[in-house]
Amino acid sequence: MIIPFLDLKKQYLKLQKEIDEALSSVISRTAFINGEEVSMFQKSFSDIYDDAYVVPLANGTDALFIAMKMLGIGPGDEVITTATSWISTSETISQTGATPVFVDIDEYYTIDDSKIRDAITEKTKAIIPVHLYGQMCNIEVIAALAKEFDLEVIEDCAQSHLSSYAGIKAGMWGKCGTFSFYPGKNLGAFGDAGALITRDEDFAIKCKAYANHGALIKHSHFMEGINSRMDTLQAAVLNVKVTHLNTWNKQRNDVAAFYLEELSGISALELPKIRENTFHSFHVFAVRTRRRDDLRDYLQKNGISTQVHYPLAMPFMDAYSKHHQDKNLFKNAKEHQDTELSLPIFPEMTKNQMRYVVDVIERFYDQNIDLND
Ligand SMILES: *Cc1c(COP(=O)(O)O)cnc(C)c1O
Repeated sequence: MIIPFLDLKKQYLKLQKEIDEALSSVISRTAFINGEEVSMFQKSFSDIYDDAYVVPLANGTDALFIAMKMLGIGPGDEVITTATSWISTSETISQTGATPVFVDIDEYYTIDDSKIRDAITEKTKAIIPVHLYGQMCNIEVIAALAKEFDLEVIEDCAQSHLSSYAGIKAGMWGKCGTFSFYPGKNLGAFGDAGALITRDEDFAIKCKAYANHGALIKHSHFMEGINSRMDTLQAAVLNVKVTHLNTWNKQRNDVAAFYLEELSGISALELPKIRENTFHSFHVFAVRTRRRDDLRDYLQKNGISTQVHYPLAMPFMDAYSKHHQDKNLFKNAKEHQDTELSLPIFPEMTKNQMRYVVDVIERFYDQNIDLND
């Protein structure tokens, strides 16, 4: 059996008629930039986020950058974020001229909130928590800390569409939430797309203008900006897909529940813990094992694709070789990068496929019984 890491083709085939019609409609009107599909998406995404202001953007990386720029973050400032994420989270801090300050992760693989206080200095302007893999950070504590020190919170929700903590969705806790609709995300376009959500109307307007060369009306540039508008073709795809997001998240949770149940007997395999009082959107199902590379090879030989999120935590990347922080601060992130393995998880996954993944993992550990460290 061949099990892909995710199956975008299967999802497309299920929605093919609707998506093809939506795309040809844009093409036949040549409404490629700022077509009505973009405002339709703005509306439908706002509907699922309790009427928050939505700014559709070109990608999730720009969403982070734009949020920081419009909060006035720049040279001389520090922004606190997690050691373990995709590089967008920290490279955008540097792009503003500010300095990323990394904090180690906790046993849920998200930023360790108990270590944030020590990272705060006079220069700190904001915290960017990442709800990694769909798992919520301890956002209640982070929001309280931010309030105490008068810091902004920008939630990186690129992996946490509709995740929630105490019933409040990711992206609704801080100044804003930034989203990616990269094809493989829980809600994915047919190319790059992103968005920012906020409850602050003035902030939303500023971000929207900044992403459109500093203008809300053509040729009325009240500031300089960048070009980071959401493509109309991408919006057309997202309008079809967004109505399925809730169901897909539930289906991901079904896969996760199966893995959690069926793999619980393997003591050499660390399974993901779900933070209490949260909804986990399971963008990634991350297991940890000392024999990660061997297990990965074995799964690959048996037709099962996996990934590693991520082989190097940011503080250990060459890009941060000159970074000022002591590498010993990131023991958990180091352990994580050396042991993490992401198993196949996607809404269309069948019971047979899940069963097969579990069987092959069990076989790996049965054959290597004396190596189960
Ligand atoms: C995907 C991702 C981003 C960036 O999104 P793009 O749309 O690819 O620019 C940012 N942060 C995290 C945590 C991500 O996973």
